[in-house]
Parts: sequence; C-alpha cells; structure tokens
Amino acid sequence: IEQAVAEDIVRFEDSFVGINKRYRLINRIGEGTFSTVYKAEDLEYNSFENEWDIDDRESKKWSSPARRRRPSKRPHYVAIKKIYVTSSPMRIFNELELLHDLKFSDSVCPLITAFRHLDQVVAVLPYFQHRDFREYYQDMTIADMRLYFRSLFTALRSVHAKKILHRDVKPTNFLYNPQQARGVLVDFGLAEREETDWHQCACTLPPEERRYKISHSVWAQTLQSGNQPSSYPKSDVRSSRRANRAGTRGFRPPEVLIKCTQQNTSIDIWSAGVILLTLLSRRFPFFHSADDIDALLELTSIFGKKKMRDIALLHGQVFETNIPSYSDGGHSLEKIILWCTGRTSSDKTQKKIELGDDEKEAVQFLYRLLECDSAKRITAEEALRHPFITKAFE
Ligand code: ADP
Ligand code: MG
Repeated sequence: IEQAVAEDIVRFEDSFVGINKRYRLINRIGEGTFSTVYKAEDLEYNSFENEWDIDDRESKKWSSPARRRRPSKRPHYVAIKKIYVTSSPMRIFNELELLHDLKFSDSVCPLITAFRHLDQVVAVLPYFQHRDFREYYQDMTIADMRLYFRSLFTALRSVHAKKILHRDVKPTNFLYNPQQARGVLVDFGLAEREETDWHQCACTLPPEERRYKISHSVWAQTLQSGNQPSSYPKSDVRSSRRANRAGTRGFRPPEVLIKCTQQNTSIDIWSAGVILLTLLSRRFPFFHSADDIDALLELTSIFGKKKMRDIALLHGQVFETNIPSYSDGGHSLEKIILWCTGRTSSDKTQKKIELGDDEKEAVQFLYRLLECDSAKRITAEEALRHPFITKAFE
C-alpha cells in the first residue's frame, strides 16, 4: 500500500488507543466528506460461533454435534468507518441508530458494533466484497441492469418499509458485486425518518385537493389566475424557505431542489433513476451541476420548461427562465440515450434510429423513476413488480 495510506493508518492506530488489539488494519478503502473507511481483519472473530450467521443462514444445523464443522482459519474482514470528529454527536448517533434499526434488513450492510475513544467514533461493518462502479458501468448489459436494480430496490424496499429515507443513494453508497448479482446499501450518514408533517405541501395531496393548497401561495395564485406576475418583487419581505437539501449533487430530485419541506422516501427512487440513466447513457457522472439552480436547469434541459413550471407550482414556487435554448416540452429520454451513446442518424440516411426492445423496456421503467411529480413516482415495492425487474427472475 501507498506510503501516505500506511502513515494514515499508523496515525489512526495511535489516536484510537487499543484498536489494533482487536483489528489489524489492512488498507484504506474509502475517503469521503464525513468519514474514512478502512479494511481490517477482525482478530478476535470466533468463526465457529458465528459461522452460520455469515455463511449459511439457512442451515443452522451446526448445533447438532455430528454436523459441527471445525472453526475455519479463514480471516474475517470488516470495514471500519472512522467518522470525522467534526460531525455532530447527534449526526453520529442518528447514523448508528438507523443502522441498528435496519440490522435485519436484507441488502443493508449491518452494523456489527461501534466504539468511541474520546471524541472519535468508529462503526464496524462486515466487509462486503464489491467492484467499483467505474469499472463496470460502461459495459453493463440490460440483463445486468435488471439484476442490479432488483438488488437495489430490494434494499430500498426494506429501508422504506421502516419509514426511513436514505437521502444519498448513488453508486458509491450501493456496494455491488456483479458476480453474485447482489449489493448492499451503505452510508446512512444522511438518512432520516420520514416525518408526518401536518402542514402538508400540495405535492403530497391527491390531485383534486391540490388546487386549494396551491392557492395559498400568492405568487402561484397570480399565475393560476392567468395573470403574469409583473416582475420579481423589489423588496420581498417573505422569509426564505428552508428545507433539507442533504444529498449528493446530481442525484437530487426536483422537489429537493425546489425546497419542498415534505420530502419522503420517493427521493431515493429518483436517485436510483439517475443511476439507471447513467447506465443507459454510459455517462458518469451524468449531471455536473455546480449548485441547486444549475441542477434545476440541467433537469429543465431534459424535461422542458412546462414540467418544471408545473412542479414548482405544486410546491408553491414559481419557476421562470429566459434561457432561449430550453424548449417547453424538453426531450424524450430515448432521444437523450441515443445521443449519449452516439446513435444519431447522419443527414444523408434518413433511417430512423431506435433503441433496442430491451432498452425500450428499461426506458419505460426509467420514466417511472424519474417522474418529476414525487407523488406519482413509483415506490420500491411497485418497482419490484415492474416487468423490467421481474424479468430478472426469468
Ligand atoms: P462516507 O460517509 O464517507 O461516504 P461510506 O459509508 O459511504 O462513507 O463509505 C465510504 C466508502 O467505503 C464506500 O463507498 C465503500 O467504497 C467503502 N465501504 C464502506 N462500507 C464498506 C463495507 N461494509 N465493505 C466494503 N467497503 C465499504
Ligand atoms: Mg458514502
């Protein structure tokens, strides 16, 4: 391993007194905004005691002496997540508590234990063998994608069933093993419980009840009455809206960008949609926005001005842009995928270029994920019943 990594490991071992009695640190495997993750060997792991837990959950027959196996000498690897000391205790507690709640969920990387030494907290998780997304996103077939999303939506279904939203679904937080067609969701650092807020935003109401709610916003009301608001008010006395925006640039759905205060598990579905768009278009990262306004414009270039105006209105906001290149209707996702993969017809041959049948099926599924109106977006449970996913079982 690199000199710098080796030095970092030594520093960590020195600062966290006693950690190397139990774990042998092997390498640094992740470095993010909130933590550093190390691969380590658990020196005290009793492979005999825990064997069925990891290797063969279904055959718990080891209790009968005749079937007992010898403890294997195989080393047991863990991922040690060192949470930066700058994280607030509440934040750290939140992550550990949610992981604890999810410990029996399939496809969520379970928390083994956690330690604190002074101000330093580490979480210990089983090491999950996976491949870096960048190594395979360009050559995944549609059949591979079905398997990937079957696994991802299985994980999301179990998280959402507990009324928890992950908030940061993206390739580096879903560790996927293509050989096993299995992945685990990690990083609950931004996750939260879904709240029931009685000051409902119109977006969460059934369409027939939305009008009343929308009419509360003065600006939105002016727009609905058919009058154009004259201009942006010079001295706007309204307080600026605040909403949770946590997540990763490029994976945020319109309602987060537009600062809806009623965010729910459907935001994870949008992020999963961005992953599918990445795979189908072979572009990673697909979105490159510098900030939320930029991100909103990127979405406008695809989905068109009309949709963005409608969505803004739904959240009591007004969306306007004078950028001339944006059309009202936007572009179809089929067209974008064809463009991104260089399949555009040259001027001479007027032959219409189309996506393959299985790609078309993937795009239909994609439309259900990248649905701008969060109330209409497919749920993880429904996604697992969609033909795009059920075909993965065939
Ligand atoms: P952060 O909050 O810093 O993003 P994560 O929990 O996402 O921390 O972990 C960062 C990286 O560490 C992951 O993208 C992954 O590469 C690696 N990692 C995390 N947990 C595990 C694990 N259980 N097994 C293997 N690698 C892991
Ligand atoms: Mg992460």
